[in-house]
Amino acid sequence: MRQIYVCLGCAGHYLPPETMTYPTLGLTASPVHCGAPACKSAVTDSLKFIAVPEDVVAKWARRAAGIDGPVRRARPGRPARGRRSAATPGSGRSKLL
Ligand SMILES: [Zn+2]
Repeated sequence: MRQIYVCLGCAGHYLPPETMTYPTLGLTASPVHCGAPACKSAVTDSLKFIAVPEDVVAKWARRAAGIDGPVRRARPGRPARGRRSAATPGSGRSKLL
């Protein structure tokens, strides 16, 4: 099954060949950006600052776009020790009451 990728530059979805190469064009597909020159330069420059492999970043992008399953949201957990729980609607105190 071919993998769908998400461009980190334009957020577009693209479907490169399984070999990740375009033999007739002599080009190689990237897992993190589409073929647009602007996306290539922007993403390449951005990834220089994080020490994460492109495959891992591509996996994060697919997960965030909902391609690898439902998007995971942060669960409302217990408050950190010493902190109050999150306020609920109507729980605020007023000087009028
Ligand atoms: Zn793009």
